[in-house]
This record gives sequence, C-alpha cells and structure tokens, in this order.
Amino acid sequence: KVSVTFDGPTRVFTISNQKGGVGKTTTTVNIAASLASLGAKVLVIDLDPQGNASTALGVPHTAETSSIYDVLINDVALSEIVQQSPESPNLFCAPSTIHLAGAEIELVSQVAREHRLRTALDEYLSEQHVDYVIIDCPPSLGLLTINAFTAATEVFIPIQCEYYALEGLSQLLGSIRMIQKHLNPKLHLSTILLTMFDGRTRLAHQVADEVREHFPQEVLSTVIPRSVRVSEAPSFGQTVIAYDGQSAGAIAYREAAVEIAGRATSSAKKGKN
Ligand code: ADP
Ligand code: MG
Repeated sequence: KVSVTFDGPTRVFTISNQKGGVGKTTTTVNIAASLASLGAKVLVIDLDPQGNASTALGVPHTAETSSIYDVLINDVALSEIVQQSPESPNLFCAPSTIHLAGAEIELVSQVAREHRLRTALDEYLSEQHVDYVIIDCPPSLGLLTINAFTAATEVFIPIQCEYYALEGLSQLLGSIRMIQKHLNPKLHLSTILLTMFDGRTRLAHQVADEVREHFPQEVLSTVIPRSVRVSEAPSFGQTVIAYDGQSAGAIAYREAAVEIAGRATSSAKKGKN
C-alpha cells in the first residue's frame, strides 16, 4: 500500500484538450476520486455545460441546482454551491447545469470576464484548505476554458491513444502561451496522461511513443487502458474507483494519481512549458 502525504500548497489543474471525447471528464473524476482515496481533499469544478463530471461524481445538477453558472454570472460564492460527492468525505464538486451553456455568451459583457473563476476560487481557498482543485473544461477555447486557464497553475492534457493526437496539440500549446503572456504567467503544462490505450493495436504504441518523445518530462509513466468498466461507471453516478476499484482502469487511475502526488515539488519549481 502506497503512502502519500498532502501538506503542500493547493495545486490547481485544468484538464484541457480542444478535442471532445478524448477522456477529459473521465480523467478529471477518476484522478479526483483516486487522490481523495489517498487522503487528499479534492474539489472538482465542472465547467462543461454537459455536466458529465457532476453526473459521475453523483452530485445533483438539475436546472434548479445552484451551480458554477451562479458563481460566474451572479456572483454567488463558490462555498454556496459546492456539494460533497456521496463517494467520499474528501471529494467535492462544484456542479454545472444546463444554464452554463449560455454563460459563454453572458460572460462577454461581464466585468473581469476572464478572471471570475479565479476570484471565486481565491475566496474559497482563503476560507478552507483543499489539496487539489481539478477543473473539467468543455472542448473549446471560449471564455469558460479561459476562466479555467486563468484560475489554474497546471495544465493537464489527456491524450487518446487512438489517432494522431499530436495534431491539435500545437494549437493548445499556443493557447497556453497566450494565456501565460496576457492573463496568467504561472500557467504551465505539467502533466500528460495517455488514455484509452489498447496495447493490441500498433497505432496505440505509435501515438504513445510519439507523445513521450515530444514531452518526456510531462507524460506520466502510467497509461490508462481502454476498459469497459471505466465507461460504464458514470451511468451509475460513480467513478470507476467506487464502481469497480479492482478493475484495470481503477488501478491505473490510482497509480497515475500517486505519480501526480509525487510530482508536487518538481512541478511547483518548474513553471515552464
Ligand atoms: P471528454 O470529456 O474529453 O469529452 P470523456 O471523458 O467524456 O471525454 O470520454 C469520452 C468517452 O470515452 C466516454 O464515453 C467515456 O466513457 C469513454 N472513455 C473514456 N476513457 C475510457 C477508457 N479508459 N476506457 C473506455 N472508455 C473510456
Ligand atoms: Mg467532458
């Protein structure tokens, strides 16, 4: 059994990739649940109007639920909308609702529109300690994603080992550089996780090799296998950690979380791309 201690400053990750369906939400909730199972206090911020992270964490998010939309648009405090996931006393979620779909447009006319999440999160973290904040982003570079980039220090990119994943990546790296320059100098790419890996295909190995060649520091050694248990879990309102903790996917996500926790000091020092 691994032992991991959490005593450093809060680490704020944004899980980003402009492509949809690459495993952002799955990675968000399963890394969060894994870190919580290791004893960390974790807050997931669901910034995707689809609300898939809220669903997987078993947190209500109907149209009537107070949500991250109210934080961004109506100046409601984050502490008023955060819910505890039934899965763990250490695991919390700021849910998204369908209203968030309109926020992309509504934010345009707001004061400090790029900083609204950052301001709300700073206020929340001044009241209570959280070890990890993980922000699940929609698959686009609109104001919601920009709010995530402005609030975070670490960018975490899940890469699907199924097609030439590097294609869209230079655009994402360009966006990160833009944000660094204009909005958040502390933002840096710290973590890449290879997901949906099917070791029987040549393409999966090719993609993995290519990503490791380009990003030797950032890529975690752990690879997440393609696994039916991982894809089934959300329909039970659970992460795979709770749904089937002994499955290959759950074991891999816990190993990835241990690696991430172990990188605390090095990534805090690094601060580069
Ligand atoms: P994104 O948030 O980037 O759109 P998701 O996390 O929703 O991507 O994943 C897209 C689909 O792939 C979902 O149906 C999810 O259940 C499935 N999926 C993600 N990771 C795995 C995995 N390791 N094994 C099998 N299915 C997966
Ligand atoms: Mg998603």
